[in-house]
Amino acid sequence: MVYFEEDSERHFRAAKAAGMEAHRWFWTMNRNEKELREKHPELFSVNRKGESCADKPPYVGYYRFLCPNQPGTLQYLKSKAEEQVAKDYVDGLHLDYVRFVDVILPVNLWSNYKIDQSRELPEYDFCYCKTCRDKYAAKYGKDPLEMEHPDQSPSWRKFRYDSITNIVRNLSDVAHAKKKNPSLRRYFLRRKLQSGSSGKTG
Ligand SMILES: [Zn+2]
Repeated sequence: MVYFEEDSERHFRAAKAAGMEAHRWFWTMNRNEKELREKHPELFSVNRKGESCADKPPYVGYYRFLCPNQPGTLQYLKSKAEEQVAKDYVDGLHLDYVRFVDVILPVNLWSNYKIDQSRELPEYDFCYCKTCRDKYAAKYGKDPLEMEHPDQSPSWRKFRYDSITNIVRNLSDVAHAKKKNPSLRRYFLRRKLQSGSSGKTG
């Protein structure tokens, strides 16, 4: 199997001719499209201090994570996925950034950002937008912003895991509907940052 980040029909067809499955690399929750930010800033995830990835991305300028509980997020990602799997040369979708912003980076990166993450800091803890808080409160009877230690709440953690799982299920359905395969990647960025290959990490 081979993954392509760009939509290059020639490369997809060459890989297929060589007997490989060719998947389109798909940035899932992290979407850096300027147009999306300008038209729909409400889709971007919000940290525990109330700051949005739309205008205040954490760590690096391209960290623009969407909120999985905004209905517009699912709609947008499904339409992007549908565009890809509709192409006859695309065998599947390879989902990357299937998660929230890293609330704690690997310890060897702390000095790069001049931060001490021995506890979960509010500026890296997502998503506390009103939609997420209301949805959680409707189910569990409390607002996560009012918890003294939200990082210690298993139900709040699970709520957020489930929110991402819901997006993945829907995108998998989009791929399967076209008889194409979804695949997952999780820790790509973390490895990239560790390898020091990004020049934008200051
Ligand atoms: Zn949210």
